[in-house]
Amino acid sequence: MSHQSVLIIGAGLGGLATALRLSSRGYRHITIVEKASTPGGRLNILEKDGFRFDTGPSFFSMSYEFDELFRWCGFPNPLRYRPLDPLYTVYLAGHSRPFRIFRDLQRLEKEFEGVEPALARKMERWLRNAGEIFKATEYRVVKKDFSSLAEYLWALAGVPWRHAPRMFMSMWRDLERHFQSEEARIIFSLVSFFLGNTPFHTPAVYKLLSYTEFVHDGYWSVEGGMYSIVESIVHILQQRGVRFEYEKEITAPMMEEGRLRGFKTRDGRTFRADIFVCNSDAAAFRGLVLGRHRWQPPSLDKMEWTLAPFTMYVGLNTTLPSLNHHNYFLGSNFRDYAHTIFTSAEAPEKPYYYVNIPSKSDPFCAPEGCENLFFLCPVPDLRYKPDWSDAEKLAEAILNDFEHRVGYPIRSHIITCTVWTPQDWQQRFNLYRGSGLGLAHGLNQIGGFRPALCDEEFPNLFYVGASTRPGTGLPMVVIGSRLVSEHILKRFPQRAELSEKSVVNM
Ligand SMILES: Cc1cc2nc3c(=O)[nH]c(=O)nc-3n(C[C@H](O)[C@H](O)[C@H](O)COP(=O)(O)OP(=O)(O)OC[C@H]3O[C@@H](n4cnc5c(N)ncnc54)[C@H](O)[C@@H]3O)c2cc1C
Repeated sequence: MSHQSVLIIGAGLGGLATALRLSSRGYRHITIVEKASTPGGRLNILEKDGFRFDTGPSFFSMSYEFDELFRWCGFPNPLRYRPLDPLYTVYLAGHSRPFRIFRDLQRLEKEFEGVEPALARKMERWLRNAGEIFKATEYRVVKKDFSSLAEYLWALAGVPWRHAPRMFMSMWRDLERHFQSEEARIIFSLVSFFLGNTPFHTPAVYKLLSYTEFVHDGYWSVEGGMYSIVESIVHILQQRGVRFEYEKEITAPMMEEGRLRGFKTRDGRTFRADIFVCNSDAAAFRGLVLGRHRWQPPSLDKMEWTLAPFTMYVGLNTTLPSLNHHNYFLGSNFRDYAHTIFTSAEAPEKPYYYVNIPSKSDPFCAPEGCENLFFLCPVPDLRYKPDWSDAEKLAEAILNDFEHRVGYPIRSHIITCTVWTPQDWQQRFNLYRGSGLGLAHGLNQIGGFRPALCDEEFPNLFYVGASTRPGTGLPMVVIGSRLVSEHILKRFPQRAELSEKSVVNM
């Protein structure tokens, strides 16, 4: 029996999950070519001075999408999830105690005592509507691909019309209608930043994310650290004979008789295959590697991109008992901050940031008696702030603020500290302009408007990952791997009569 060969460009979650699916449906000759020296893409690992840091994602929603992935592949799910409870903790400037965000609305109400009266009742109302939107769109638009814009618009038209006003109303406006305190509005609007915009510009339909947080499935992390997602999948792929080629960056297509036959790497090698799956950014790849006119930097730069990450991986020779696992630290100027952070040419002087402390639940990721801290400060992408020679200034500002807020002099306890600026993120994983989550999710960049899963010109080229459909975040990328695998199975079913052409490394 002969098999069609598959070349996957990028070993991010999208590339790995697609390889897992295809290898489960009889595709035998699969090669993954990866620019970095380790698999995982943004979901990566940094091991240093006895500490183990997850580089990017620290939790996820819709855990059942991972269940679906392994079920689809005929495997028991090897991942052991751990629920986040509280979901997270928010430190708001000017408040003497943090807000712990519980899914249990009675407990949540207590956190907002004296701030937002009758919060549980208001939340119920807010979430009821969010749930209706989630249920109306989950299968109709989110977990589906569209062969044309018309098909997408048709699917949208099937969403009950009563939700239409929330397409045009901002999330902030909707929050104002439900909650009277600035504190509740700010905290429940944070999800909008994951989508690449402020709550003042994010359509209120995205409140469906609050439903996934609070009601539907909550947030989860994985026992053993987030990188065990990658390790589990890679382990299976290696057993199945999938080939990994690291430190090879694809830079150009290789054509024969007008057909896409392979890709060339920066170091002059060629990888041939029958089918290609691109896990590199689906918009930037079309322009920068395929040379498509419509996707050149001037056009890419006009698109909306999510904020860039400024990350710090800090190891302490002490522990911080008063902190929870997931913590947001926000200042007192939310509106100004939200309005300027996307396009400012300066790093913020009073940064807003997220701190994750994985050693709270996985002690093995730090030496005994130590704690590992992951700081994530979203900053403008490299279009607006291309120079990061002042990275130290922002690192200092974050550490200063953190010490002040938690009331503990952590700097004298730092035994390891690594900083990745947006330039590092761009250079390591080819993130366009250093944008952390890829293309944003405005109405004109989702569904049928988002870069497609099937290439416009080459019938044997497909895309998977954050900047294609359905969107960014771990569960979305896993859904995308199913959608793209279905396209491949349909277009290139494994057939005995097809030519034997395994991936050849020339
Ligand atoms: C700091 C940070 C925190 C995050 N936190 C969360 C979170 O808590 N929860 C969540 O759900 N999501 C989170 N995300 C988003 C999540 O990480 C992404 O949506 C997801 O990992 C994207 O996976 P991907 O496969 O699309 O892309 P990537 O992970 O970027 O993988 C693409 C791979 O392709 C490789 N590549 C690119 N170009 C080439 C080329 N030309 N040749 C060869 N290889 C190439 C890259 O090196 C990379 O390994 C976070 C992201 C960041 C940056």
